[in-house]
Amino acid sequence: MQIKCNVLDRQFQMYQKEYEEAALRVLRSGWYVLGNEVEKFEEEFAAYTGRKYCVGLNSGLDALIMSLRALGVGGGDEVIVQSNTYIATVLGITENGAVPVFVEPDEYFNMDASKIENAITDKTKVILVTHLYGQASNMETITRIARDYHLELVEDCAQSHGARYNRKMTGTFGIAGCFSFYPTKNLGAFGDAGAVVTDDTEIAGQLRMMRNYGSKIRYYNEIEGVNSRLDEMQAALLRVKLKYIRELNDERKRLAKYYDIGIQNEKLILPMLREHAESIYHQYVIRCEKRKELQEFLQEKGIQTQIHYPIPPHLAQCYKRLGHTAGDFPIAEHLADTVLSLPIYTGMTEAEQQYVIEAVNAF
Ligand SMILES: *Cc1c(COP(=O)(O)O)cnc(C)c1O
Repeated sequence: MQIKCNVLDRQFQMYQKEYEEAALRVLRSGWYVLGNEVEKFEEEFAAYTGRKYCVGLNSGLDALIMSLRALGVGGGDEVIVQSNTYIATVLGITENGAVPVFVEPDEYFNMDASKIENAITDKTKVILVTHLYGQASNMETITRIARDYHLELVEDCAQSHGARYNRKMTGTFGIAGCFSFYPTKNLGAFGDAGAVVTDDTEIAGQLRMMRNYGSKIRYYNEIEGVNSRLDEMQAALLRVKLKYIRELNDERKRLAKYYDIGIQNEKLILPMLREHAESIYHQYVIRCEKRKELQEFLQEKGIQTQIHYPIPPHLAQCYKRLGHTAGDFPIAEHLADTVLSLPIYTGMTEAEQQYVIEAVNAF
């Protein structure tokens, strides 16, 4: 059996008729960027998260860059970020000329809240948390720290659409929740797309202006903006998928539970769930000291796996200038050497999952 890590066409087939109708509606409408579909999607996604506003953008990276910019983050400012996140989280900071200050993750792969206070200086402006792999971070402690130190809190929710902490949706704890709708995400579009959700009228207005060349009225440019407009096609297709996001997330939770129960191998550590936290299992990430052997073993059986992520941002070639060296963030470095993401996707069959479980157990 051949099993891929990401299978995207099965969710298309599940709702094919609705997707095709939505696509045709856009094609026939004569209006293709920032229109009725975008407005509707923004309303619906804001309602889903429970926030007042949603601003649709080009990508998750833009959501991060532009949120921090709207908060006035710039040269010399420091932003606290976890050391095992995806590079995009850190690019959101450095694109604004600010400095990432890394904090090690906890055993749930999220920012270790007990290490944040040590990282705060008088230059710190923002704590930027990533709800990595779909699991909500320790938001009770992190919100308290942000409040005590008068720091803004921004959430990278690119992997956590619908995940909650204490029943409260990720993306609603900080001033801004940044989402990506890249096709592989739990709420994935059919191209690039992203959004910011917020309750702050001023931030929402800033982002709306910023995404469209800095203008509210065409050709009257109030700020130096960018082009990060969401197109009607992605918005219309996302509106279809958003209707089913609860079921789609529930399916992943069910798949994760089967892995939890089925995988029995002392050489592996399975992902753990924090008390009060939910995960939507964007990835199902195991740890193994013999990862290379495990990955090759599975590959030989036709099972594709991925590593999220092989190089922590502080050691990425592009961030040489930050001056970090191996050993600076040993927990993130050890994770980079040992994590492995097993296949998990919409429409994964019982037989496929059983095949993966048996292979993993045979290692
Ligand atoms: C995917 C992702 C992003 C970036 O989203 P894009 O839409 O690809 O720009 C940012 N942060 C995390 C954690 C992600 O997984």
